[in-house]
Amino acid sequence: MSEPVARFDAIIIGTGQAGPSLAARLSGSGMKVAVVEKDRFGGTCVNNGCTPTKAMVASAYAAHLAGRCGEYGVITDGSPRVDMKRVKARKDQIVQKSTSGVESWMSGLKDATVYRGHARFVGRNQVRVGSDTLRAEKIFLNVGGRPLVPRMPGLDAVPYLTNLTMMDLDFVPPHLVVIGGSYVGLEFAQMFRRFGSRVTIAEMGPRLVAREDEDVSLEIQDFLRAEGIELRLDAECITVQKEAEGLSVGLNCKGGEPRELGSHLLLAVGRVPNTDDLGLEAAGIAVDKRGFIEVDEALRTSNPQVWALGDCNGKGAFTHTAYNDYEIVADNLLSNAGRKYTDRLPVYALYTDPPLGRIGLSEKEIKEKGIKALVGKRPMSRVARAVEKGETRGFLKIHVEQGTQRILGAALLGTGADESVHSLLDAMYSRIPYTEFQRHVRIHPTVSELLPTVLESLAPLA
Ligand SMILES: Cc1cc2nc3c(=O)[nH]c(=O)nc-3n(C[C@H](O)[C@H](O)[C@H](O)COP(=O)(O)OP(=O)(O)OC[C@H]3O[C@@H](n4cnc5c(N)ncnc54)[C@H](O)[C@@H]3O)c2cc1C
Repeated sequence: MSEPVARFDAIIIGTGQAGPSLAARLSGSGMKVAVVEKDRFGGTCVNNGCTPTKAMVASAYAAHLAGRCGEYGVITDGSPRVDMKRVKARKDQIVQKSTSGVESWMSGLKDATVYRGHARFVGRNQVRVGSDTLRAEKIFLNVGGRPLVPRMPGLDAVPYLTNLTMMDLDFVPPHLVVIGGSYVGLEFAQMFRRFGSRVTIAEMGPRLVAREDEDVSLEIQDFLRAEGIELRLDAECITVQKEAEGLSVGLNCKGGEPRELGSHLLLAVGRVPNTDDLGLEAAGIAVDKRGFIEVDEALRTSNPQVWALGDCNGKGAFTHTAYNDYEIVADNLLSNAGRKYTDRLPVYALYTDPPLGRIGLSEKEIKEKGIKALVGKRPMSRVARAVEKGETRGFLKIHVEQGTQRILGAALLGTGADESVHSLLDAMYSRIPYTEFQRHVRIHPTVSELLPTVLESLAPLA
């Protein structure tokens, strides 16, 4: 006798940043929906990504400011201390509220069934979750990713942390060695330095955040060094080894000590999609060389009954891109909107302090594309709001196209840049020339009010 199959209009696998909203919208439109989650509701962003890191970045900022309070004329008795248990408790409380919110939201949806377990395809439109078999005409994958654990000599003998286990720390590691000098690594490095750890970043490349323009990397390196973070760049051949106390990392750098001793090791060398254990071959779903699910512009996979949303499709690595994937898929299905992921502009932030707000093309990309462009740049030390706040690290840099006068991209590295960058983004979406953007009156004193001023000093890109 064949096993019973539970039939749905739609199955949604994973409750990251696209799945829950999609489930709600489909259920609201009258569809019978199954939602499958194998772990904590809300996925990476809520449980071990954006939400907890930004909660901890806020604690680290408070610690940093407390150390500088005398500069502002504020006197506290004694030097500030960080109670990591309280930092963690604050972070846990914020996370718990979000994750349980997503779970109760999903459980309360009309005509929806929540399955807790690992989903795996057993046919083109059929998945197995534990002992249950589910079938639907439409299946949506929002399975996200996990930290990449590289093949690194010695790693099997040394305990290491990733962004998952960093969330459990309720103490300040005496010396944290971070392998990987990119977005995730830098956020943890600066926050733990501010909590009181000695911090060393080992990066294989010649500079941090190599995807960014060189001036961005250099400024970030400068302010991290100024806080006492040790940078070991050009660490071409990284190995790890257990020591009597803690561990050591072999760097094989061009200069400096050949081994760096540390108490704790954080791996922040990238992420891999959760697609290797989904049984994709049973559903005829193609992946690329790195395991990302191949999709068309409307996020449909090689199986026309299946869509892939969020980090697992490799078309974005952010909460806002995953959420935008949901909007595209839902609008296309329910309103025949013809939306495409290729219509969105690149936009993201790096949450160091000061943060980096990035939109559109970088200087490097503009040059690679051979676009005739102008650049305007202004140090944050010449932004009144930054001076008043005592936060003058960084700069504002904007690129425009010579002929069309359209804004091509910007790298705003400075206090409030993760917010102020949005006014340029809106101008890019509206496709207005920068000369029109300059006419908009802005609030004083803000970082945003200086953006038109940056555009007054445009010069050809060297
Ligand atoms: C440390 C860190 C900080 C970050 N900070 C930011 C930030 O500040 N801003 C930003 O925009 N982005 C940030 N990101 C990236 C962001 O977290 C992700 O881009 C975002 O979570 C989107 O992921 P997703 O929706 O694709 O999937 P995820 O959030 O990863 O969710 C996938 C879900 O699917 C479930 N799942 C996987 N496989 C199965 C299966 N077979 N069966 C059932 N369930 C399954 C998982 O358990 C998980 O719950 C950060 C990431 C990290 C690691």
